[in-house]
Amino acid sequence: MASAEPSLSFNLLHRTCKLVVLLCFLHISVTVFFYVRSLDLRFAFVQNQQTRAGSAASAAPAASRAPEPETPDDKRLKTCPQTSPLLVGPLRVEFNIPVSLDAVRKANPQVGPGGRYKPKDCAALQKVAVVIPFRKRDEHLKFWLYYLHPILQRQQLDYGVYVINQDGEEIFNRAKLLNVGYAEAMKEYDYDCFVFSDVDLIPMDDRNIYKCFSQPRHLSVSMDKFGFRLPYKQYFGGVSSMMKEQYLRINGFPNNYWGWGGEDDDIYNRLASKGMTISRPSGEVGRCRMIRHERDKQNEPNPQRFDRIAHTRETMNKDGIKSLSYKLVSKEALALYTKITVDIGKP
Ligand code: BGC
Repeated sequence: MASAEPSLSFNLLHRTCKLVVLLCFLHISVTVFFYVRSLDLRFAFVQNQQTRAGSAASAAPAASRAPEPETPDDKRLKTCPQTSPLLVGPLRVEFNIPVSLDAVRKANPQVGPGGRYKPKDCAALQKVAVVIPFRKRDEHLKFWLYYLHPILQRQQLDYGVYVINQDGEEIFNRAKLLNVGYAEAMKEYDYDCFVFSDVDLIPMDDRNIYKCFSQPRHLSVSMDKFGFRLPYKQYFGGVSSMMKEQYLRINGFPNNYWGWGGEDDDIYNRLASKGMTISRPSGEVGRCRMIRHERDKQNEPNPQRFDRIAHTRETMNKDGIKSLSYKLVSKEALALYTKITVDIGKP
């Protein structure tokens, strides 16, 4: 009986040791598993960075700056994929460090005169004219070019940037300038899609594609200014896009909204009256930042806007792209955009 006790305690010790060894083994396995997983993540992150850098680097050879005219070679190119592999997702957008046009030019060597670009290795899905109504906002325009050129290239678009500068000191007319942008861009190239963008709005995610959809698209759906949400369901201001056919179906935009406000609601009314609906990206993908600024002189809220919006259906067939008139003052194909200065008259 006396010899049974040491053997019992030996057995217990043996089992405890086995358990400790097993636990150690488990611990090491879990540690190794998480270590390997973290390596994977780090590798993925580096790859992500390289994609960004890669897209810029692939833009390096600047042999010919202007997009070449369409050749039979272009026709043989495979169509670009529905989703560009160059996209990186959320982006950091800040306005505290001023940018120089020279730096933007150097960072985008494949952008040709007039702000034209098309992918070299695939045929873009759409030909997009980006139209920006403008007056005395050069600092904002620099930020816009700095952020948007790399994004639009990663989106594999065949695009051109048209800045429509209102000449003189008369009251501002955003929608009429957008109509001018449509008319002038059509003189340059066979665009099938138009993106209409305010100069102070920058997307925070390159998955928000600046192209057109089967319904008119509203792109600036969650602006920091509105707490990253839509101010109201019918809101169509900031950045929007339309196929040429969609734009023509509503007779373009109104020409008689002088001063701030209402013209985007009129455009919404035009679309709705033709039975079109608004397509939008998700709130996450549609996040964007607005460059803070004081209200421009000669762009006071338009007191007539409420009355005009109430009558869109009666006025839209008479007032629009078909009745547009303006005087072209100058057209310059600058390194990063086409600057079109126009006299659009006064109220
Ligand atoms: C105006 C629009 C403007 C919106 C958001 C509306 O009251 O009519 O033009 O975009 O407010 O600021």
